[in-house]
Amino acid sequence: MASVRVDLSGQTAVITGSTSGIGAALAEGLAANGCDIVLNGLGDASEIEALRVRLQDDYKVRVAYHSANMLRPGEIEDLIAFASKEMGRLDILVNNAGIQHVAKIEEFPAEKWDAILAINLSSVFHACKHAVPVMKAQGRGRIVNIASAHALAASPFKSAYIAAKHGVMGLTKTIALEVAEHGVTCNAINPGYVRTPLVDSQIADTARERGISEDEVVRDVMLYAQPTKKFVEYSQLVGALLYLVSDDGANANGSSINVEGGWLAK
Ligand code: NAD
Repeated sequence: MASVRVDLSGQTAVITGSTSGIGAALAEGLAANGCDIVLNGLGDASEIEALRVRLQDDYKVRVAYHSANMLRPGEIEDLIAFASKEMGRLDILVNNAGIQHVAKIEEFPAEKWDAILAINLSSVFHACKHAVPVMKAQGRGRIVNIASAHALAASPFKSAYIAAKHGVMGLTKTIALEVAEHGVTCNAINPGYVRTPLVDSQIADTARERGISEDEVVRDVMLYAQPTKKFVEYSQLVGALLYLVSDDGANANGSSINVEGGWLAK
């Protein structure tokens, strides 16, 4: 758990893709600071319900779940409407849902390209399009997009992911300019490698693409990129998020916090 504390009582946050990995950790980090939560994401219904009940019981906040699929713009609109109508407010939107596929450009399946662009980039557009009017009307709001070190730097075999994440950075800056005078901010967090289910499956895929062992992928590809030689911890991302959503974060706008062990300094 992050040591940073911010009073978020009375606020509501939507976190896309919060049934697993980083999104679940960010949802818990916000709940631990008093924020009501709308969980979203795919997965086993009983596991999602167990997560919802655990957060609600542990942190004494209201926790709801909405099943919007980030491939479907109409469902994303419903998710935002659910937060503002059923929960009464929408103070924080964390666009986190994402998928990955690792393959050479000449072998990259077109349907994977389409799905990655839809989930990792277009869903951010659709969620922001519907959240911004609510936040403007409230006179305050915080949008935080979980992009990636790959929003600013490339690696081979991840064409769709890197194109989408670079797009998220451009979208973040554009929205920031449009909302700046309304008490709303839009920023990104760019994590390096975090040991989540998404990364675990990438280790196997990268080993296959590069013809090396999984241990070599971790040592020579992933942690090679990160000068600290350590995976990023969930709590370190929660700390960055809490700063951006706090009142102290009011003048951070259109920017990004890189939490990547120095990867982008190289
Ligand atoms: P994860 O696979 O653990 O979680 C992804 C979440 O997105 C899950 O809740 C999943 O259900 C949800 N999701 C996937 N497709 C969806 C869809 N169609 N509709 C709704 N929800 C959907 O992955 P993670 O590693 O926690 O990644 C979360 C975010 O962080 C992603 O945007 C990823 O690109 C980014 N990121 C991850 C790392 C890392 O090292 N893990 C590094 C940089 C950025």
